[in-house]
Amino acid sequence: MTYAAFNDPSLSFDTQQIHAGYNPEEHFRAKAVPIYHTAAFELGDYDRCVRLFGYEEEGDSYVRFSNPTNRVLEQRMAILEGGSAALAMASGMAGISSTLLNITQSGDEIAAVRTLYGGTQSLFSEILPTYGVTTRWVDDPDDLDSYRQAITDKTRVLYIEALGNPCINVIDIEAVAALAHEHGIPLVIDGTFATPYLMRPFEFGADIVCHSATKYLAGHGSTISGVVVERGGFDWQNGKFPQMAEFIETYSDAVDREEFLVAAFTHRLRNRFLTEFGAQLSPTSAFLVLQGLETLSLRMRRHSENALRVARFLEAHENVLEVSYPALQSSPYYDLSKKYFPRGAGGILSVRVRGGLKGAQKVLERVRIFSFITNVGDTKSLIVHPATSIQYGLSPQEQQGAGVYPDTLRLSIGIENAADLITDLDRALS
Ligand code: PLP
Repeated sequence: MTYAAFNDPSLSFDTQQIHAGYNPEEHFRAKAVPIYHTAAFELGDYDRCVRLFGYEEEGDSYVRFSNPTNRVLEQRMAILEGGSAALAMASGMAGISSTLLNITQSGDEIAAVRTLYGGTQSLFSEILPTYGVTTRWVDDPDDLDSYRQAITDKTRVLYIEALGNPCINVIDIEAVAALAHEHGIPLVIDGTFATPYLMRPFEFGADIVCHSATKYLAGHGSTISGVVVERGGFDWQNGKFPQMAEFIETYSDAVDREEFLVAAFTHRLRNRFLTEFGAQLSPTSAFLVLQGLETLSLRMRRHSENALRVARFLEAHENVLEVSYPALQSSPYYDLSKKYFPRGAGGILSVRVRGGLKGAQKVLERVRIFSFITNVGDTKSLIVHPATSIQYGLSPQEQQGAGVYPDTLRLSIGIENAADLITDLDRALS
C-alpha cells in the first residue's frame, strides 16, 4: 500500500485537514504526527551542512530555525489556505509583528483599518513607530476611498482582519486587495476569526494571512500559537522592498529560483525573524494545533450554527441594544458575509446591552455556562468586556473606531448545546 493522502490536491478540505502535509513513511510510520523534542539535529557531514544553510536541501539543524513537527503544521496550513508556504510561530502576535517587520523598514508606512484586535492596534500605534514605521489609519473600513486616502508613496502594506475583532465587521477583501496591488503593495489579512474553512483570503487576492492559531485552529483553549501563510506570486522585487530584493539575490542563485521566489517572504521570515527574534513554536504546541486542525470543519460548522441562533435570540431581547454578527439579515455586512462567508460567519459576535457599563457588568457576573475570559475560538463559550480588557489602553476614540463602547460585550460561542447557551444569556440579561 502507498500512502498518498498527504499530497493530493484533489482531496476535499475535510480530508486534507486530517492528512495534508504528513507522510508517515518519513516518520517511522507513526500514525499521529510525532513530537520531536530535541534542541538540535545531526548535521551529517560538511557538504550537507553547507547545503542546509544555503537553502539547497530542506532539513532541520537547530530548533529555533525549524522542527519536523512544526514543518507538518506549516505544510498543512499552506495547503488548507491554498498558499505556497507557511511558518509556525510562538503566538499570533509573534506572527503579526514579524510579518510587519519583514515587509517594512524605517521610514515606511502601514495603511490599516482601526477595526483590529487591540494588540495589533498598539503594535501599530505605539511599538512600530519607535522603529520608524508609522501607520495611516483608514477612516472608514466600508469605503474604498478611505483606503485610497491612507495610501501614500511610503506605504508598504495594507492591513485588515477577515472578521474584525471585536465588532465582527466584514471588509470587501477583493476590492481592497485590488487597490493594494494597484500600488504595488501586499494585502496582509488576519484570518484568525475566519479560519481557512470559512474563508480563504488568497482566493480574493490577499498576499499574506496571519493566524492566531491559539483560537479556532488549535480550538480547545489549550495552547498559544501562530501561523503565517504566504500566497506566493507577489512581486517583492518591484523596487519598494529593497530588503526583500537583497535577500532574494543572496540566496536565489544557490537554489531553484522559481521555487525560492514563490516562498521568498516565508524564507526571509524564518531566516531573519524566527531565527533572530526567537519566537519559535514549541513542537508540543504544534502537535496540539495539528490535533485541533483535524476537526476544524466540524467545529466551525457548529460554532457558526450556534452563533447564528444566539445572535437571533439576542437581537430580539429587550435588554440588548445592538448585535454585531454579519450573518444576521439586519447586519450592514449581510451581503458581504454571503459573498465571503457562505459556510457561516464563525462563532464570535458582539452585543451592546441596556444599562451601560453597569448593565454589561451584571451580565458578566450572572452567566453560568459562559466563562469570563479574554480568549475566543474555544469549544467552550466565553464572554469578555473589551473596553476594560482586550482594548484596554486604547483611547475612547480608538475604542469607538474599533466598535467598542462601555456597554459592549464580546461573545465567543462554543460548541455546547445552543439552547443551553440561550437560557444562560436570557437569565443573565433579564
Ligand atoms: N489576532 C486576533 C484577531 C486576535 O483576536 C488575537 C488575540 O486575541 C491575536 C491576533 C493575537 O494572538 P495570540 O494571542 O495568539 O498572540
